[in-house]
Parts: sequence; structure tokens; C-alpha cells
Amino acid sequence: MFVVLLGPPGAGKGTQAQRIAAASGLLHVSTGDMFRENVKNQTGLGRLAAEYMDRGELVPDEVTIKMLLERIGRPDAAEGAMFDGFPRNVVQAVALDEALATRGARIDKALLISVADEELIARLGGRWICRSCGRLYHERNDPPKRPGVCDACGGELYQRDDDRPDVVRTRLEKQKPPAGLIEHYRNAGVLREIDGQRSLDEVTSALLEALQ
Ligand code: AMP
Repeated sequence: MFVVLLGPPGAGKGTQAQRIAAASGLLHVSTGDMFRENVKNQTGLGRLAAEYMDRGELVPDEVTIKMLLERIGRPDAAEGAMFDGFPRNVVQAVALDEALATRGARIDKALLISVADEELIARLGGRWICRSCGRLYHERNDPPKRPGVCDACGGELYQRDDDRPDVVRTRLEKQKPPAGLIEHYRNAGVLREIDGQRSLDEVTSALLEALQ
């Protein structure tokens, strides 16, 4: 099964994707994580991506699509995957559809997590990530037991540069799923909208139910 998770930055896509992957065994493919990994390792791709990421803008389609297609060509993605942060626009969606079609597959579900703008701004400001294992936390909604320390692995928690308030507003403006992208999946008959303004557990249950 191939699934895309859609929603604005801060809707909880990353957190929910980690939870759903753990519960369902679906492979979690996050283009944001892949870019951050490249930035950390100071690869050529990382240097290029960082120029856009630091401004809260999208990395150009040709770069992102190439990286994603390479990822889903690997054996562990043969049976299915859950895409988090991809596609961000119709060009990316069509590229993904075409790549899946060549192997007789398609996007089976597109799950849209919706959250109001004011709530998104509050959420993005409080987000922390473990430098070692990548687990996500939130100051208010999902705090670690000890501030600054990962519950799962004891690693150091940090805030993403693009979670700073000025960059958050740019990301919201530039990175909401465009209407055309939502239409793309509605027209394909695979769109399900999930109310993201509930507790983490309630949203996870709603998503898992939509995947049944
Ligand atoms: P995310 O973790 O999904 O919020 O992504 C972090 C940053 O990586 C975004 O602000 C973009 O700069 C870049 N990025 C991630 N996924 C994509 C994508 N599908 N297309 C373009 N840029 C992306």
C-alpha cells in the first residue's frame, strides 16, 4: 500500500507518520528527513537544499523528485510506503504517480490532516527534535520527561532553524498544500480528511482507521 500524508507544516505529519509506521509496519519516507540528513552530512545535495530550507522555501522540484524516485527504487519500498512531506505540489504528485504506475502501483490513500493557522503557529514554535534518533517532541503537547533530553535514547534535543517564528510564517504561507494538490487526490477518489485538532492519540486512531 502506498499512502501520502498531506497537511500544512505543524499539522503533525512527522509525528503521526512515525506512529503509523510503528503501528502498521509501513515504510516511512520523509523528504524533509532526507534533506536534513544530507545537510548534517554536508553533501552537495545538503548544501543546495539548505539554501532553500533556511528560508522556509521549497527545494526545487527536479532535485526533490530525483531524490524521492531514487529512494522508492530501493528494495525496502517495493511493497509500499508512507510519504510524509512529499508531494508538495501537483508536479511532484504526477511524478510520483508515474513512477508508481511503471510498477503497477498507485497511491491508495491520501490522508489530509487539517489544522487552523493560529494553532499551527503555536505548535511550530514549541517543536523539539532528538539529534540522535529523530524523535519529535512538543513543549506543550508532547514534552520530554526531562527538558532537552530524549526519552527514547537520551540524546540532545534541538529546535530546527526553520521553526523560528519569522520563518514559520513564511513556511505556512509557502508550504500549505495547494488546492490543486488536494484536488488531484480528491479526483483520484483516494482523499480522506482528518481533523488534526485533537489529541495525538485521537489523530493516530483516526489515521489508522482511514488506512483500514
Ligand atoms: P519538512 O520536514 O517536510 O517540513 O521539510 C523541511 C524542508 O525541507 C522544507 O521546508 C523544504 O525546504 C524541504 N522539503 C521537504 N520536502 C520537500 C518537497 N517535497 N519539496 C520541496 N522541498 C521539500
